Amino acid sequence: MTNGESAGGHPPDLMNKLTSLSKRRGFIFQSSEIYGGVGSVYDYGPLGVELKNNIRAAWWQEMVHRRPDVEGVDAGILMNPRVWEASGHVEGFTDPLVECRNCHRRFRAEDLDGVQCPSCGMSGTFTEPRQFNLMFHTFMGPVQDEASTVYLRPETAQGIYVNFRNIQETARQKVPFGIAQIGKAFRNEITPGNFIFRMREFEQMEMQYFVEPSADAEWFETWKQRRMEWVRGLGVTPERLRFHEHGPDELAHYAKTAFDIQYLFPFGWQEIEGIHNRTDFDLSRHQEYSGKKLEYFDPASGDRFIPFVIETSAGLDRTLLVVLADAYTEEEIEGEQRVLLRLHPRLAPIKAAVFPLVKKDGMPDVAKRVADELREEVTVFYDEAGSIGRRYRRQDEAGTPYCITIDGQTLEDETVTVRDRDSLQQERVAIDRLPGHLQALLEAAA
Ligand code: ATP
Repeated sequence: MTNGESAGGHPPDLMNKLTSLSKRRGFIFQSSEIYGGVGSVYDYGPLGVELKNNIRAAWWQEMVHRRPDVEGVDAGILMNPRVWEASGHVEGFTDPLVECRNCHRRFRAEDLDGVQCPSCGMSGTFTEPRQFNLMFHTFMGPVQDEASTVYLRPETAQGIYVNFRNIQETARQKVPFGIAQIGKAFRNEITPGNFIFRMREFEQMEMQYFVEPSADAEWFETWKQRRMEWVRGLGVTPERLRFHEHGPDELAHYAKTAFDIQYLFPFGWQEIEGIHNRTDFDLSRHQEYSGKKLEYFDPASGDRFIPFVIETSAGLDRTLLVVLADAYTEEEIEGEQRVLLRLHPRLAPIKAAVFPLVKKDGMPDVAKRVADELREEVTVFYDEAGSIGRRYRRQDEAGTPYCITIDGQTLEDETVTVRDRDSLQQERVAIDRLPGHLQALLEAAA
């Protein structure tokens, strides 16, 4: 599908529109932009970092704080290189790479659709595929040789497996229980693209749930359903979400069963999260390679076993892209076009914007006082620049659910207007009732 077309009923050319809105409003910038950028790494600006933190917090709340049976961890990005031998990544974390002999562009063999080069249009110019390892590596210490090679982790999961015993013992958890982590992962992707869909540096939100081997199918089903509910709870259109089951040729080397949660992006159905039954593969391999016992002793039955693992593995950036793509709306109001992000209020970077209607008669002073008071409760943006219409439109594009305006009547009776981003309804609220009013609105939306 070319860029201009759009699947899923999204507005035409959505990816380009999202990229430019993200830059214009300070959500997402190309990394090192003043130097022309660097391949598929992005920086989150003031609004982007708030949105990302809100998604991260929603995940942590759901996966860790709400569950007595899940513990958190924050492991190092650099790990003992033996970890990646045990996990199979040194040997097997590869994509088949082909190069066009004419234009020298490189592609993932599985992305190609025939013998014609998508870049220069020549046919029959591809080299034989060769395996390309996606792990970035660097050197630890002053000597740069094979013995000092370390890898930037390509997934956060291994930091969980190697801490399995530490956490099970210190948190005194009994199987079944889980360990969750959010953190950076790095992959030297051959064909990154579609904005933040496929990046080389990204963040994952992963949870590994350790179960008795015979209970794997049941727990798999439980987590599969819970994860879909969570994505829906972010306010994502249910018709644009589906499960995709991995066929035998798609399954990763460690997986017994795998389902992806897919979203209907403008460029088609694509994975946003994977739910995998990783069996006892990882713990067994780490036991073998480290020589340390990673069995679990069940005090009730007296059995010893290596637990099976049900993994839920989501991309934080990719989830953010889903949230943005799904929220982006163009509509016509009284003959005028408006662009808005219908973000779930819980995720919106700014909860309330505060404006003086005009920059005179003491309105800015009252508005600043109102903004300062609200700042104790929620994220607030104060704006007195430009016409009120333009200020509303800027906040619509930022996804701000409520705009509060101080006007002539405020000076008489200490009430303000509260405008709802989606319905455009305005209601008058007394200043001293504002914090409670906003909290009630945000809770009702949650
Ligand atoms: P893909 O087939 O898209 O490369 P994958 O099957 O390799 O993905 P997993 O290894 O299962 O992906 O990773 C789990 C999640 O991490 C994905 O569902 C995705 O949300 C996220 N993810 C993986 N690779 C990237 C990337 N290069 N950029 C952004 N997010 C990614």
